[in-house]
Amino acid sequence: MNKLLLLLPFLFLIGCQKNKENPSKTNPKYVVDAHSYAKPNEAVAKHLDLNIAVNFNKKQLSGTATYTIDKSKKAKEIHFDSRNLIINKVEVDGKKMDFRLKKGDAVLGDDLIIPLTINAKKVAIDYQTNGNNDALQWLNKQQTTDKENPFLFTQGQAILTRTWIPIQDSPQIRITYDATVKVPPELMAVMSAKNPKQKNQNGVYHFTMPQPISSYLIALAVGDIAYKPISNRTGVYAENSIVDKAQKEFEDTEKMVQAAENLYGKYPWEQYDLLVLPPSFPFGGMENPRLTFVTPTVIAGDKSLTSLVAHELAHSWSGNLVTNATWDDFWLNEGFTVYFERRIMESVYGADYANMLALIGRQDLDETLASFKNTPENTKLKLDLKGKNPDDGMTDIPYEKGFLFLKTIESKVGKEKMDAFLKKYFKEHAFSTITTEKFIDYLKQNLLEPNHIKFNVEEWIYKPGIPNNAIKITSHKFEDVMQTIEGWKKGKISPQEICNKEWVIQQKIHFIRNIPASITLKQLKELDNACGFSNTKNSYIAMVWFEQTAKRNYHENNIDKKMAEFLIRVGRRWYVTTIYNALKENGRLKEAQEIYKKARPNYHSVTVRTVDEMLGNKEQ
Ligand SMILES: [Zn+2]
Repeated sequence: MNKLLLLLPFLFLIGCQKNKENPSKTNPKYVVDAHSYAKPNEAVAKHLDLNIAVNFNKKQLSGTATYTIDKSKKAKEIHFDSRNLIINKVEVDGKKMDFRLKKGDAVLGDDLIIPLTINAKKVAIDYQTNGNNDALQWLNKQQTTDKENPFLFTQGQAILTRTWIPIQDSPQIRITYDATVKVPPELMAVMSAKNPKQKNQNGVYHFTMPQPISSYLIALAVGDIAYKPISNRTGVYAENSIVDKAQKEFEDTEKMVQAAENLYGKYPWEQYDLLVLPPSFPFGGMENPRLTFVTPTVIAGDKSLTSLVAHELAHSWSGNLVTNATWDDFWLNEGFTVYFERRIMESVYGADYANMLALIGRQDLDETLASFKNTPENTKLKLDLKGKNPDDGMTDIPYEKGFLFLKTIESKVGKEKMDAFLKKYFKEHAFSTITTEKFIDYLKQNLLEPNHIKFNVEEWIYKPGIPNNAIKITSHKFEDVMQTIEGWKKGKISPQEICNKEWVIQQKIHFIRNIPASITLKQLKELDNACGFSNTKNSYIAMVWFEQTAKRNYHENNIDKKMAEFLIRVGRRWYVTTIYNALKENGRLKEAQEIYKKARPNYHSVTVRTVDEMLGNKEQ
């Protein structure tokens, strides 16, 4: 006993000296995030009580964000992120407090600094939006599917939540929340929280999110929507005219949840619902917890585009449960999710299907790599986005290079060990955030070293390009497509025979994308007439077909008018940028700009920013 007592002060001394030499060893809970003014190691928000009213006439949100905070003894103030918000009043524990709004830049917004009393517990911020708030898209009734009522939705990722709530807007800061939202009585509000299933008379809705989430996952939508269940824990919200269609399209959702649970453990958020948005929604989907936001362009009538649901569902583990600490670590969210998505698809629809998805992903990746030929630093998994808008890091690299990294490891260790590792990873990091560096340590300790596997982890994560040991992805379903193209080229297969093939969507996409340059415009028209590509109702086929016709200057079958209509109606960023880029790269920039002029008012700010840059639009 004495020995131990004597040793203790000595150990303490060593500890102190170590800390002096290397401050990182003092282990602050939060790392530096270049995209937030918050100083969470000093004072951090733990719970949000949001009380807001939604005014469609003024296009304005107004109300109070009240935070329960946790502070260190010496913290004299707390910092929040705020962009284009009008701060009316601040109270600390019920007492009015003078605050400072320190002007920042156009991307980060301002630093809202609130002085704290020594035992401060609650900070209440009375605020309103100013009409120029990038997270919010206010749609008039003409821009909705039913065209009877207006619609509002938010998009928080990456750093847009601060444009509708003053908040500590760093993904590493997790909070629980309650909300009361007042909307016009003919509309219904839903959030990334426990949701109502029916409209109520007075238009006041209460929400609770009892599990801690990152700020970018706080989401709100207001519209004339209805709910239809799929199972007792899954269902769909949509505008009235498409809710039945949506229920049918997404009827495999419960199967997907079960497949995901079989892989990586119990679904951690109780309820999993989908909200179908109007067509201007900028993404395929957004994984808001309990309520994935999804583009209506995936409602194809034949479930052919539902891999998107598998992706957003997978985020319930990778991203929402275990979250990237900063946007430089974004690949930890997306690479894992693409890997997980394809494992779900494999379970529900078979290995052939998952392989096709992977091969299409590989082709997308190669195109992205080629486009970054002159800026190879953009092809690293771990990014350095300091001084940049984090949206600039949201390319195919974190998704598809991240997937390829995990798939290559899987090929070395085998599926069984990979799955056991991932299940443990999600369990041990549940409701927390992780940096790339911590993940590397965890991977080595829990998978590579115990199995005596040497793997070039650092090369994959910190170096540009794709390492030589990347697994090669093949699909015999696509071999059939390539043989068909050869036959068509040689005149051995007719367009009608091509259309009669019982191909799944991925094969059709692969076919259209690989139409060779030697195919003449006359042949293209024969194909179009036989298969009806110019009139397709499938948005994915339409997108790749418009890309081809734009590249080849194909003008038959009224295609240019149809393409313009598509670009004006649909605001999904991936779709519209693919088509605009094909026009631009083929000497049709003017035409692209003309269409964009009409389409721009229908797009969310996320899409606007990307297309403005692509087409050189100065109007901001
Ligand atoms: Zn994702």
